Amino acid sequence: MNRKTIFSIVIAICVIALSACASSTPVVSTSSNNTNVTAPTASSNTDTNVTAPSVSNSNNTTDPSNLACGSGSGSASLTPEETEGPYFKAGSPEQATLYQAGMPGTKIVITGYVYTADCKPVANALLDFWQADANGNYDNSGYTLRGHQFTDANGRFQLTTVIPGLYPGRTEHIHVKVQAPNGKLITTQLFFPGVTQNDSDGIFNQNLLLSIQQTSDGMQGQFNFVVPA
Ligand code: FE
Repeated sequence: MNRKTIFSIVIAICVIALSACASSTPVVSTSSNNTNVTAPTASSNTDTNVTAPSVSNSNNTTDPSNLACGSGSGSASLTPEETEGPYFKAGSPEQATLYQAGMPGTKIVITGYVYTADCKPVANALLDFWQADANGNYDNSGYTLRGHQFTDANGRFQLTTVIPGLYPGRTEHIHVKVQAPNGKLITTQLFFPGVTQNDSDGIFNQNLLLSIQQTSDGMQGQFNFVVPA
């Protein structure tokens, strides 16, 4: 009896030990699988961190839903005014296409509307644009990259131009004067998202950022002006 008992106890211990070994093997492999599973998680954390710059792109809004008077809103703040700078020239030709074939730089088509503060489109509003070329130089003797136009019956404008270059102290910008018929003339500037120098330009205003999209037809920008009636 005692021997039998001892024998069965030994057998039982062996069985327990074996099952422990057997189960411990999957545990190890599971934990190594877990390690492998955590690895992608860690790398996806890295991806999350990679997305972080788009957070720092908070001054780089490209969402068209942020356009003034967009998505059916019934009122909007007036477009902020900006300094005219030293390079305005009166008497620009009436032209909506400032881009010329062979011009250096990236061509861009900018469209948008002129609204009143209660989001009524302004027909026949004046827009007078002027800007530096892709190398950061203004044409001060002629009217290259300078032109005025008027909104159509729906308050819409379209400007075809190039993305301006940088010049000392300034980030990329396009100057514009906007005026509703018989309204107050406002002078302002448009800015481009994702430009490093936006952060160091004291004139930069996040509310004047173009909404930019790269399409199969090229670079397109959008901005809606809100002017005093
Ligand atoms: Fe300028």
